[in-house]
Amino acid sequence: MHFSKEDCLKFVKENDVRFIRLQFTDIAGNMKNIAITDKQLAIAFENGVMFDGSAVAGFSGIESSDMFLFPDPGTFSVIPWRPQQGKVARIICDIKNHDGSQFEGDPRYILKRTLKKVQDLGYTFQVGPECEFFMFYNDDEGQPTTITHDSASYCDLAPIDQGENTRREICMVLEEMGFEIEASHHETAAGQHEIDFRYTDALTAADNIMTFKMVVKIIAQRNGLHATFMPKPLPGVNGSGMHINMSLTQNGSNLFSRGPGTTDISETAKYFAAGLLSHIKGITAIANPLVNSYKRLKAGFEAPVHIAWSHMNRSPLLRVPAPRGEGTRLELRSPDPTCNPYLTLALVLEAGLDGLNNRLPLVDPINVNIYNLTPEQEKELNLERLPSNLLFALEEMKKDPLIQSTLGAHTFNKYLATKALEWEAYDNSIHAWEIDKYLKSY
Ligand code: GLN
Ligand code: MG
Ligand code: MG
Ligand code: MG
Repeated sequence: MHFSKEDCLKFVKENDVRFIRLQFTDIAGNMKNIAITDKQLAIAFENGVMFDGSAVAGFSGIESSDMFLFPDPGTFSVIPWRPQQGKVARIICDIKNHDGSQFEGDPRYILKRTLKKVQDLGYTFQVGPECEFFMFYNDDEGQPTTITHDSASYCDLAPIDQGENTRREICMVLEEMGFEIEASHHETAAGQHEIDFRYTDALTAADNIMTFKMVVKIIAQRNGLHATFMPKPLPGVNGSGMHINMSLTQNGSNLFSRGPGTTDISETAKYFAAGLLSHIKGITAIANPLVNSYKRLKAGFEAPVHIAWSHMNRSPLLRVPAPRGEGTRLELRSPDPTCNPYLTLALVLEAGLDGLNNRLPLVDPINVNIYNLTPEQEKELNLERLPSNLLFALEEMKKDPLIQSTLGAHTFNKYLATKALEWEAYDNSIHAWEIDKYLKSY
């Protein structure tokens, strides 16, 4: 159901919708919203709704802080967990400056600008994300803990615990909001889950990721649990990733497929993969945005450390999953669910296009478990690693001109500045580990 403005206004009138939440995403990937009443919707479509851009991370300076939200009617959806008499709906918005010009720091616009390039080629960029998360108990004061009573592991189903019921409820709410849920399962770590929704065009996928995170958090909360997308909440067990499955289609046919009778992938897919591998270092600061993101990217936890690709092996960065024909795709395994999905998808697409346009050669696949390689073998195979912390990732981001041209100067600079402060704050603090390790011994 992709509503037009008229569809939205008619639906609101006929279905007792009283409030509309106008949603958008800040540079850090957090969802924001302003609620308006049903009476204001027609005006909002016409004139936009003003907000203070200087109060939103990565948006405007104080000087030109009046900004406007313009609702994109195609994203209209009723919020299922709010009262059904006097309903609440949401619409995702685009952002304009006070003079009516496009705000170039709007992450959704940044993705759209990149998508225009593939549209001009007659292609569609298809994206299927796999979002992982943990659900934990709250303490007596209602504060989240890292405790789970669930002791299940990968794909376990018994005993049915609070987590499993909550996951089912999340899937049902998402379906009510128009998601096509492909699969959901218990992930490897205790308290960890994954829900996969069907691939769509990239803009819808990014909107869906934002909606997904909101739904997971709210439904968990209603079940007395705290859901977190923090990449590595617990040491010693798997963290949470957000694998991105991607392909290019033209008139509905998959350009990554080599056709029947072969397990090989198309030249297009290989160039695209080569582009991804050549820009991934610079992309990492965006796809893995937190200090904590880098605690996930360690050997032994099904998360990538090395810049390599393979067919089935799950240790490298990029994988070609088994399905062929229309299901042919590349799976990028480094991003985590705390990233801004609009910026991340814009960057991976630009990287892939760079590979295509410049016919970048794809290196040979690595078909062994990379985690077990010795340093000598790594050297022999010419294997590079992803940046190992946020500071190094920011340095790589600065070095790759494709990142700045994709994000635009505004977002590029704001992002680097904000994240440098985050790194500094981390670096200046004394962590529990240091006290445990050193206080008594020295
Ligand atoms: N949780 C793993 C990660 O961090 C992925 C596990 C899997 O889906 N096989 O990416
Ligand atoms: Mg999966
Ligand atoms: Mg998984
Ligand atoms: Mg996967």
